[in-house]
Formats: sequence, C-alpha cells, structure tokens
Amino acid sequence: MKIDEKVIDELIAQASQDAPNESCGYLLGTGETVTENYPMENIDHSPEHFSFNPREQFAALRYARQQGLQILANWHSHPASPSRPSEEDLRLANDPTIRYAILSLLNGEPRLNSFKILDGKVVDKEVHR
Ligand SMILES: [Zn+2]
Repeated sequence: MKIDEKVIDELIAQASQDAPNESCGYLLGTGETVTENYPMENIDHSPEHFSFNPREQFAALRYARQQGLQILANWHSHPASPSRPSEEDLRLANDPTIRYAILSLLNGEPRLNSFKILDGKVVDKEVHR
C-alpha cells in the first residue's frame, strides 16, 4: 500500500493536535494507493485506547462510496509508544480485507507503519515513514 506524502503530513498534524490522546481515522483510496485521510473522533478520548463513533463509520462508508474510493486501512496514533500494534490492537483487528496503520509520535519522531493482521497476528508490515 502506498500513502501520499501529503496524507501522511495530515495524519501527523491531526495526531499532534489530539495528543496526548490517541487519534484515529480511515485511509481512503483506490487500488493500492491512499489518497485521503478521513479523520474520525476517538470517542474514548484516551491516551491508550481508541474507538470509532459508529455513526461516523457509516458516514465514512457513504462518503467513500460517493467518491468512488475504498477504505484501504484504518489508522490510529500512538502518542507515546512505538508504531506497532498493542495486544488490544491485535485483538480488535478483525477485518482481514484492510490494513491497520499506526502512527507513532514517540520522542517527537513520527513513524508510520501499516500491518495486515490475521487471527490476531501480524502477517505483513510496511514502513511508510
Ligand atoms: Zn494502538
């Protein structure tokens, strides 16, 4: 999966604004290329957890369909931990058709990796920044 550099910059801006809480959203695009961030509210408002707002999830699906885009990944930030899935992230990653991207802001050095997760295990990792 490729992610436009400007999209990565948007994720970093959004995550920095939401820090110390986790930030989240969907990555939309076509084929293997992400062209848009769809920002979502972390309804947990927590530095260690995130949950999407179900109403926003429906709105995101509708928006993607209208724009002819697909949801290629869901993403969230780790304001103070590395860019790898926590135990909870692995447990909650139940959609094998999308990737899970994690933006770390640890030590003020943004790192973005995305993962394919099957049955609670990482089966593929890509480094985006
Ligand atoms: Zn996480």
